[in-house]
Amino acid sequence: MSAEPDGPEGRLRRFATIWSRAVYPVTSTAATRPEFEERLLPVARRLSEALRARSFDAEAGRDAGAALVEAHCTDPEALSRTLDCVDAYLVLYCGDDGDRETLRTRSARLQHAMAAGFAQALRERTLSEQEAIAKAALEAQGVVAQALHATETRFRAVFEGAAIGIGIADLEGNVLQVNGALSRMFGLTEQALLGRNVRDWTHPDDAPQTWRLYEELVNGEREHYHVEKAFYRPDGTVLWTNLTVSLLRDADGEAQYQLALMEDTTERRLLNLRLRYEATHDALTGLPNRTFFFERLEKALAAGPGQRFGLCYLDLDGFKTVNDSLGHAAGDRLLVEVADRLQSCATAPGEMVARLGGDEFVALTTGPDTRRTVDELAGRIMNALLAPISIDGRELTVRGSIGVVEGPAGERSAAEVLRSADITMYRAKAAGGNRFELADPEADARAITRHGLTTALPTALDRGEFFIEYQPLVHLGDGSVRGAEALVRWLHPQHGVLSPDRFIPLAEHTGLIVPLGRWVLEQSVRQAREWRDANGGDALGPLRINVNLSPCQLTHPGLVQDTVEILERTGVAPDALCLEVTESALIGADDDLLKPLRRLAEMGVDIALDDFGTGYSNLANLRRLPVSVLKLDRSFTQSMQQFPADPVDLKIVEGIVSLAHSLDLAVTVEGVETGAQAEQLRILGCDTAQGWYYARPGPPERLHELALVDATG
Ligand code: C2E
Ligand code: MG
Ligand code: MG
Repeated sequence: MSAEPDGPEGRLRRFATIWSRAVYPVTSTAATRPEFEERLLPVARRLSEALRARSFDAEAGRDAGAALVEAHCTDPEALSRTLDCVDAYLVLYCGDDGDRETLRTRSARLQHAMAAGFAQALRERTLSEQEAIAKAALEAQGVVAQALHATETRFRAVFEGAAIGIGIADLEGNVLQVNGALSRMFGLTEQALLGRNVRDWTHPDDAPQTWRLYEELVNGEREHYHVEKAFYRPDGTVLWTNLTVSLLRDADGEAQYQLALMEDTTERRLLNLRLRYEATHDALTGLPNRTFFFERLEKALAAGPGQRFGLCYLDLDGFKTVNDSLGHAAGDRLLVEVADRLQSCATAPGEMVARLGGDEFVALTTGPDTRRTVDELAGRIMNALLAPISIDGRELTVRGSIGVVEGPAGERSAAEVLRSADITMYRAKAAGGNRFELADPEADARAITRHGLTTALPTALDRGEFFIEYQPLVHLGDGSVRGAEALVRWLHPQHGVLSPDRFIPLAEHTGLIVPLGRWVLEQSVRQAREWRDANGGDALGPLRINVNLSPCQLTHPGLVQDTVEILERTGVAPDALCLEVTESALIGADDDLLKPLRRLAEMGVDIALDDFGTGYSNLANLRRLPVSVLKLDRSFTQSMQQFPADPVDLKIVEGIVSLAHSLDLAVTVEGVETGAQAEQLRILGCDTAQGWYYARPGPPERLHELALVDATG
């Protein structure tokens, strides 16, 4: 191992030096400081290894805590300084090149384990000390009776010299004798303690078994017991003790006295409370942290019948921008202010606010009526964020998105609830933020499969899990089938048939849309060829095929070549193919983007503007685009469902149709569900239509049948 100052061993030693310097002054040891450092070095090494170990080893932390006690660092201050030192230097000197965030988390967990190990070891040591004294007393029990009246030197010496409090009472509870340590603990003179009765020392924090054990002892049914017990001092402050009570019998075995040994644990208890506070609260905002919140949520979820819970999961909108533009210090102050405001929203019993990390907060409400209270809670939070927050003279507007989950206790785990809240919060963000949304099991289920779908997508194409349905395009004038739109579906092995809305966005996101789109194009063009062959010399001309293109396919360099190859290979004429591009994909398109479409249009391929009317259509722009068909969005058709149709809507459609025709564009309408709609659209001058009124998307044979019926009928 290298001992160069900058090598790992050198850095480890530096850590041990700093640690020993911090702790040595509060340690009652006979060792010199360098000797003491040598004792700490192996402990430091173990901590350093645990810091970087693959999986967390709480044992290493607990052992380190116990080692402190062994090295006589029993003063609470020694633990406190140790934890400060580990917190500040362990990652720095022993972290190597590991990820800082991970190391810091690991270091915090190690500190937690160290504190636990320290407390445990100290407790065990006290117990064994108490036992040793009790043993000495019991050995002397033959003379105890005398000792109470005449002096018995050995017992007196133990009794008076002991650092722990010792008292003797008779079986009725009358205090007969106390030592100096006990008087000092209670803040009472020996005289004031003598004659008091043990039974008077009840305290509201007494554990339920405390007095049962006492009765058993004075009745001679047990030899000793051990409890943690609180006492009031005369000044009203509380003394916490580790109390061991033993029964003293005379030479004939008759119970005679009770012997109490008590150690003052008040300070250690305070330290433990502080450690517990630090382990369960967020250092920046002082709010309960994730650990604490999970404890409370788990408790709420384990509550009995009739009990419910409501959870608001808040994520600030655009917090990253504040951090990036104004700096982390400003970001921190913003979080503190938000935390204060949130805290004031959840003050009723059963309510709590916690910070989960970053800019994520949660508020919890519990009780029988959380359906109402959680709504109000979410409302209060939104309100609390309304007023701008002033930082460095700037007024910052804070907005947040909240996912709300409410339900009965006893059905879901804390992790499930939080997951649902998280998904819902993202839904609120996706809907524009600055709002709260209620959890919805269906949305959860969709979200649950989203990740799974994304990972399954790449192999689905190879495994042949996609298939295409065709929906006829019908001529409004004569009702004949003129073609069909190809609509892809995924027959998922677990989820069954999935609609394109579920997976096309994922395929676009992962880039799989390019091979998938090519496959759809090839399949559909082959299908068009089959229809043509089957239909022979159909007087109405070949059935045309409409294929949807995603925006990413438009920018893919292979688009033109792939299309040409497919058409040539299948022997289908370009004018039998129509590529549908959404209006939004072409908004603001520059000439480079339009070039491939233009090339295809020049070859005779039709380009349709799909879902027309849903984007910010600039009608004047239509002239620039290499488009020959407008597909009016379903929303226009829907507005014709009521009777009479809104005259303004009718005028709009009429206007679009006449503009389209003047630009030499054909107009198709989507989503025709009734005969009345079809008739209305025909009157308005639309050319072709598509919708459930004619046929739902289906297998290719169906279209063939429909077309034949039209041709012959
Ligand atoms: P789209 O191109 O606007 O397709 C029309 C959608 O309307 C289809 O939904 C169709 O089933 C539905 N529809 C048809 N008639 C009616 C009706 O009368 N009433 C109602 N309410 N709906 C009707 P689908 O099959 O779920 O497809 C959704 C979208 O997925 C399509 O919208 C298209 O944008 C996209 N898509 C489908 N197949 C492909 C593909 O192969 N590639 C790409 N890139 N996108 C595709
Ligand atoms: Mg389409
Ligand atoms: Mg459409």
